[in-house]
Amino acid sequence: MGSDRYLPFLPIILNWIQQTLDAHAHERRAVSSFNFPRLPHYFSEGLLNTASVVPSDRLPVPPLSALGLPKFADFESQPARGITYRDTYFLWRADATDESVHFHELVHVVQWQVLGPRDFLLLYAAGLAESGYLDCRLEAMAYDISADPTLAIRCTQWRRKFGNRPWR
Ligand SMILES: [Zn+2]
Repeated sequence: MGSDRYLPFLPIILNWIQQTLDAHAHERRAVSSFNFPRLPHYFSEGLLNTASVVPSDRLPVPPLSALGLPKFADFESQPARGITYRDTYFLWRADATDESVHFHELVHVVQWQVLGPRDFLLLYAAGLAESGYLDCRLEAMAYDISADPTLAIRCTQWRRKFGNRPWR
């Protein structure tokens, strides 16, 4: 899928992600502390206790065009409601009480876990380059599951049956 061309950028982006997570470590809050009523129907207690939220006034996005990836300039300025890095997602403060936004970002947390950081970033970049933000494969999956949460259960069943990569 041509994602190898992004390989040289991986260490820089992974480093940027780690620095960003470290810089906001003191603001992190476990998802479970929000006490949302519906999330526990779809995500395990362990995940809700370990995944974290950082309510923010600005969503941190890697400086992709400055790094030599001008193709992703749109992504840097797109008005996302949240962004997930590994087991932590950043949300606008005003969205922090919206359970559906948490649901969407938790799908990304699962994607990060299942794929691992390397494959998540390569697949995300390839999808973004091919199809744009809303239609890139990992976003489309998160939006589809958010619109129909029973899909989350079906994905879990699928993973048990066929392994970890239902979208390939
Ligand atoms: Zn998303």
